Amino acid sequence: MTELQLRKQIIGIALRMNALGVNRGKSGNVSARWKSGFLVTPSGLAYKKTNPVDIVFVDAKAKPVGKREPSSEWRFHYDIYRTRPECLAVVHTHSSFATSLSCLRMEVPAFHYMIAVAGGHNIRCAPYATFGTQELSDNALAALKGRKACLLANHGAIALGADLDAALALAVEVESLCEQYWRALQIGKPVILPDEEMAVVIDKFRTYGKPASGKQRT
Ligand SMILES: [Zn+2]
Repeated sequence: MTELQLRKQIIGIALRMNALGVNRGKSGNVSARWKSGFLVTPSGLAYKKTNPVDIVFVDAKAKPVGKREPSSEWRFHYDIYRTRPECLAVVHTHSSFATSLSCLRMEVPAFHYMIAVAGGHNIRCAPYATFGTQELSDNALAALKGRKACLLANHGAIALGADLDAALALAVEVESLCEQYWRALQIGKPVILPDEEMAVVIDKFRTYGKPASGKQRT
């Protein structure tokens, strides 16, 4: 993939993020690893008005290169790429249900087996810190330990992926899970799946959709 293609893809994902209803306006942001740094949506520009040239490259030393400023929340993108080599794309949203739960400082427990798509038996909620700060980035990184998604208190959610489509799909799934959890809480106390069962599911997800390795399937 060329840099221009990746810049176009980032804009496409940002537009889809809003079209799918997991984000509104300019509040979220999208990035993809590129060379020794990453490409990220710019600060304060509507996605519909964003052209490939507006996407900002942030290099390995956190220096932005481009005609615009990177998203004000570039810092946690930078730290994620620095510490999570398997992550090639990041989607950050202010989706309604994820954000609502984050305002209650609630993590999402294993009320549904699909919680395992985020990599573990829960989706954590990072403690609050002002947007764009190193403190927020540090909190997000801790909440993402062993996970591909987290909530940010009084703010929104982050989803990581091996590519942009995967990161967006996870952001959509996280929002859907947050909505289901929120709805279940309206009428009772959701039953939480035990850690042993979630370990089985997490293990299944590791091999799900991958070609058979020749190992006997049961
Ligand atoms: Zn945000």
